[in-house]
Amino acid sequence: MSYVDEVYELVVEKNPAQPEFHQAVKEVLESLRVVIEANEEEYRKEALLERLTTPERVILFRVPWVDDKGQVQVNNGFRVQFNSAIGPYKGGLRFHPSVNLGIIKFLGFEQIFKNSLTSLPIGGGKGGSDFDPKGKSDREVMAFCQSFMTELYRHIGSDTDVPAGDIGVGGREIGYMYGQYKRIKDVYEGVLTGKGLTYGGSLARTEATGYGLLYLTREMLKSNGIDIAGKTIAISGAGNVAIYAAQKAIQMGAKVVTCSDSTGWIYDPEGIDVDLLKEVKEVKRARLTEYAAARKSAEYHEKKNGEHGVWTVKCDIALPCATQNELDLEDAKALVANGVTAVCEGANMPTTLDATKYLQDNKILFVCGKASNAGGVATSALEMSQNSERLSWTFEEVDKKLEQIMINIFHNIDDAAKKYGKEGDYVTGANIAGFLKVAEAMKAQGIV
Ligand code: GLU
Repeated sequence: MSYVDEVYELVVEKNPAQPEFHQAVKEVLESLRVVIEANEEEYRKEALLERLTTPERVILFRVPWVDDKGQVQVNNGFRVQFNSAIGPYKGGLRFHPSVNLGIIKFLGFEQIFKNSLTSLPIGGGKGGSDFDPKGKSDREVMAFCQSFMTELYRHIGSDTDVPAGDIGVGGREIGYMYGQYKRIKDVYEGVLTGKGLTYGGSLARTEATGYGLLYLTREMLKSNGIDIAGKTIAISGAGNVAIYAAQKAIQMGAKVVTCSDSTGWIYDPEGIDVDLLKEVKEVKRARLTEYAAARKSAEYHEKKNGEHGVWTVKCDIALPCATQNELDLEDAKALVANGVTAVCEGANMPTTLDATKYLQDNKILFVCGKASNAGGVATSALEMSQNSERLSWTFEEVDKKLEQIMINIFHNIDDAAKKYGKEGDYVTGANIAGFLKVAEAMKAQGIV
């Protein structure tokens, strides 16, 4: 059996009941086949793929806290420190009821390659909890965040592991966790990114994932002879990534006609009103029904079981910005039937493996999240740089750097795909380009 297949079987066997982790590993290993098989014995002897797919450290902990009724609640806390070959562990914290070890491992594994692609010195990690901030009071969120950090603090540091936000973790949560870290450790350091601007945060970090997605998408389209201006875009999600992706897409002259949240989705043929969406989601923390109520042109659709939502709408470009496996084979078929030309992932692994294959088989331009959503973590690394030099850069400075990083990522993955005989296959290009830097660093550092 080939080394790649052997390692995939081993991963499935050793990590039972972690389907998302298996899926992320499968996608990467399939892409790496050409690289590994050219030098199979050397990689096998060094067990490089076994080391790559086994986290350096996994931390599991109890998070007890008291709710507003005086009832004690207990959640699970996780931090997976996956790979530190090229820098301190870096990756977000996700607070969502669906969080379990397999989800955090898939996210941490993806983060290794994504962070490598940014060209900045950051390793891969991820963490989170099955705590659901939705419907909780600010005091409950603070109590949870403080308890979470009371354990996590001992495992992180500005040169060790630097968490940030992800689903369910935004400025409010980062603030509470930062305060508790500082209180316990008595050091003022850039241990978290996505901080508020008054205490070490970076300008443009909030916008970075969405803006970065559009910078890369525009460059990819340009290199395929397509102008993004005038195109119709379907976006899923209504969180930080979706909001700023929509904003930048509109600035680039495109029209965004959809967004969604966990209970429903919006079709707005006149184009999404981003200011209204921000008001509903960032200020009121309300449902999209409020968006629909305030905007005549918007149609609201309740999310019913088996309904396919935003991907049934006619569009030129689809940007899945919600969550993993939100775009399945049926959605891919609907998009192709409706004439989509490009799909670029804003979320982590939003497209299932069979949907990805269908899109690629139908010659749809497809970029995977580890390349196209890398703008968030790249800007986190820029926040780390600013914290280290105790300076802060202007919005324009950070935004310019972000834009250049995204353009470089596209050309890097495009070149890697061409070099390995897979022109236009940006998934293979991203996985190979991300892997090569990490593998070289791992080899140089010996068996650790
Ligand atoms: N959660 C984001 C991601 O998936 C950002 C991580 C970070 O900024 O460290 O890449």
